[in-house]
Amino acid sequence: MRKKWDGHCHSQFCPHGRGEATEAMVRQAVALGFERLSLTEHAPLPPGLLADQKLFDELALKPQELEPYFDHVRGLKQKYQGQIELLVGLEVDYIPGFEEVVLDFYDRWGDQLEDSLLSLHFLPGPDEPLMVDFSPEDVAARLLPHYGGLEAVTLAYWHWVQESVQLPFRKYRPTRLGHLGLVNKFAQVFEPCRLERDFYRPLAQEIARSGYQLDYNCSGYGRKTCGQAYLPGAFLALAQELSIPLVYGSDAHGIQAVGQFYDHYLKDLNA
Ligand SMILES: [Zn+2]
Ligand SMILES: [Zn+2]
Repeated sequence: MRKKWDGHCHSQFCPHGRGEATEAMVRQAVALGFERLSLTEHAPLPPGLLADQKLFDELALKPQELEPYFDHVRGLKQKYQGQIELLVGLEVDYIPGFEEVVLDFYDRWGDQLEDSLLSLHFLPGPDEPLMVDFSPEDVAARLLPHYGGLEAVTLAYWHWVQESVQLPFRKYRPTRLGHLGLVNKFAQVFEPCRLERDFYRPLAQEIARSGYQLDYNCSGYGRKTCGQAYLPGAFLALAQELSIPLVYGSDAHGIQAVGQFYDHYLKDLNA
């Protein structure tokens, strides 16, 4: 039997979350019968990454919050021992052009992490990185014009995922790739660019070789602008063919979302 595990969950530290107590989210996971929960707060981003400071501040932890966050999660881990296995984790960004930043981050903090996600939210832009998933309006105003359409954006997205898989981590490394297929987040707004299974094969093989797990992120099911899992069906089939571990992720930013659409995960995986 697979462990009932939510491998992607934010906390009260998240500046764009609902601000609800992490402990209440942990209790919700216990109540839903989860045996394991990874707390994966957004790791700090490189200072000066974006011109819009207000937006920047909403995206992730501040560097000085990192240690208090770890202490907070470790405290809960102790307190809930025997009820649920909490894993101390982070969701870490790979930003194209900032390879050394993410490698250095793992050198510095990797020993604190029991689990972590490596996520691609940004693609290269004209003067600063552009977000793939901020809002349909932002995508329409900046990302699509820069790349010349959704097909080019989608190809760029998968290219940079491939680069992230090839990052030469040293002593410590991420365990899982966060929400692959995030480029499909607005599938109900922009018709997704469908790619064949053979397009994904070299990447999937690389992931299998590198030993990464995949975050089977179900938050898209709850968004009107998405209505589906982010991971394309063709990729899911390949992941299963190549025995890449698929870990359920709610991507909860509040109590109600913990464990959301776990039934969809089981159904999609035929588990
Ligand atoms: Zn978030
Ligand atoms: Zn994310």
